[in-house]
Amino acid sequence: MPDDSAQAAPNPATDIITCDACPVLCRIRAGRTGACDRYGNLDGVLTRMDPFVVTQKVAERDGELVPFGEQVWDGSLISGAPTFVTGIGSGTTYPDYKPAPFIVASEHDGVDMVTVVSEAIFSYCGLKVKIDTDRFVGPETAAVRVAGEQVGHVTTAEYGSQMLSLGGVRHLTGGSKKEGTVTCDTMLALSNREAIEMTIDGGAELTVQAGKPPVIGGKLEERMRVGCGSATIGIFAKQWHGEADEVIVVDDHITGVLSEHQAGRFLDMKPAGLRVRGRRSTPGRYFQVAEPGTGWGGTDVTDPLTIIDKIDPKKAWPGLRLLMVSTTGEDAAFFVLDDDLEPQPTEMPDKLQVVVERIGENCEPALSTVIFMAGAGGSLRAGVTENPVRLTRSVRQALTRVTCGGAPVYVWPGGGITLMVDVTTMPEGSFGYVPTPAIVAPIEFTLRLDDYGKIGGHLDAVRKVEEIAGIERLKTVRWHARTDWPGAPLKTDRESAE
Ligand code: SF4
Repeated sequence: MPDDSAQAAPNPATDIITCDACPVLCRIRAGRTGACDRYGNLDGVLTRMDPFVVTQKVAERDGELVPFGEQVWDGSLISGAPTFVTGIGSGTTYPDYKPAPFIVASEHDGVDMVTVVSEAIFSYCGLKVKIDTDRFVGPETAAVRVAGEQVGHVTTAEYGSQMLSLGGVRHLTGGSKKEGTVTCDTMLALSNREAIEMTIDGGAELTVQAGKPPVIGGKLEERMRVGCGSATIGIFAKQWHGEADEVIVVDDHITGVLSEHQAGRFLDMKPAGLRVRGRRSTPGRYFQVAEPGTGWGGTDVTDPLTIIDKIDPKKAWPGLRLLMVSTTGEDAAFFVLDDDLEPQPTEMPDKLQVVVERIGENCEPALSTVIFMAGAGGSLRAGVTENPVRLTRSVRQALTRVTCGGAPVYVWPGGGITLMVDVTTMPEGSFGYVPTPAIVAPIEFTLRLDDYGKIGGHLDAVRKVEEIAGIERLKTVRWHARTDWPGAPLKTDRESAE
């Protein structure tokens, strides 16, 4: 059975065929592949070279489902098992008005469904990378570089995480050819869960890999902070009470001072008279106590006493017990004020050490998270329906489920079909590229068959799920049980697609 929608233009004289699955239009000799390695010339037939991935709900043992992709078996579908056709390896149609490579009818709980799958070519796509660390990686808006080329920038930090925005149409198409190529290679590797080394102008060298701890300046990051300095005080104030007269939690954004903080006041703590540097926001909460860096709490501080501006002799007293700690508990020191009100390093009392260790215990493992973001609201819709805006509306009405490699996606409100997906929820190796340059990603639209007709779907191209069993390069994998079955309707009680 022919299983590829791209059409080859054979040239009997030379055995060269032209791939028309993308605008590059590679001329491929017999036994060779085109520029993206996705298509090849096998005995004069244009062939998608990678397996076409289909997933099935199959109980492994005692009704337990094994993780998606863990078990692979060659060959045919398991008869009767719920089956979902992914876009992985399905191929691409070009120009877009041709029906998508696979439009497959199936049944879910007595409801006739259809899934339209394709390997979409995304010129408009990028990655949002979340790096769980409070260490300084670079100033906001600084260029992120790979092999010297700018592939993105540092964007707004989130709670306990530094954020990068990588890729996007401007880096793919708006700079030099090398910038576009390196950007595409970087996005492809990160999306396929490979490690990428990058540098940030005015910042750190990083190694980032989806689902793995980041490496910052050669150091493996292990802990994501428990919270900002103020939040850390809010959590642990009661546990410190009676064991220390003052606790300063050092943090690049909000450094907390316990006796001034509302938490200390609630505990009737006496003002300790220690004033930290920086700008006082509200009682016990200070901004900009130091510069960002890779020291204590994401600051450049290596000696915590440097953030103490002054000690008020009218309030402080000899013997005052001071704990200074970072928001991960990795750095901590204990001091006692001498007769001159100078902090003297002192061995940490056991009871305080327990709480410092508890800060570490409450940190989560630091990870890098890679979210693929792309616009599917453009011409690829023509492979689904002759009336593309109806597909967009049906997505908006939650009548059409959008998935990538079977993984759930978040679709942004507003116009278009702008989606985001965690690449670690997709099968490994889901992504490809074409040298235009652009990223190729699997996408599936699943809706009721009757709704598919109403939105102007390519009903003539619908084939039954049983018919795909004859495809030689089919790869069947077991479905994981972590997310909703992608072949189910989104709504049971619903409005019409019209
Ligand atoms: S880059 Fe790939 S998809 Fe595009 S024409 Fe060449 S072989 Fe075909």
